[in-house]
Amino acid sequence: MNEDRQVRSWNHIDPIGGASPVGGRRSHAANRQVRRDQSRDQGRFVSTSDEVSRFWAKVTKTEGCWLWDGKPNADGYGRFRVWRDGRWTHVRAHVWAWEQVHGPVPEGHTLDHVRARGCHHKHCVRTTHLEPVTPAENNRRAAAWRAKATEDAT
Ligand SMILES: [Zn+2]
Repeated sequence: MNEDRQVRSWNHIDPIGGASPVGGRRSHAANRQVRRDQSRDQGRFVSTSDEVSRFWAKVTKTEGCWLWDGKPNADGYGRFRVWRDGRWTHVRAHVWAWEQVHGPVPEGHTLDHVRARGCHHKHCVRTTHLEPVTPAENNRRAAAWRAKATEDAT
């Protein structure tokens, strides 16, 4: 891995998010294992400088959220086309961004767009707005938010 290129890549990431990689470098074997273990909606922690520049060209940074300009998935998340394992595939844009800073999303977790941090957009890719949570926690937060919204409306 080219150290210099990695550092430049991380410079694209929100500095508040802490630009240091978590857990250090993985061996090639570990990377392969990670790729196998990951579900389809994960970004797969590999990127090239070309990929990095293509990604950030599609992002509009507002004071709060950093919004993905590209075409969203049917589920509302931004999607980013990447070359993996000899073919083009799509990954979720916010997952790709988060993985550039933190490495793979922990197994059994999804990335929540944290409303408590002012994030209201599923297509936001600002890593400080994202937090890995279990599906149960994600549902709990969504339910709490719905309850609050109902309360505010009455
Ligand atoms: Zn956001």
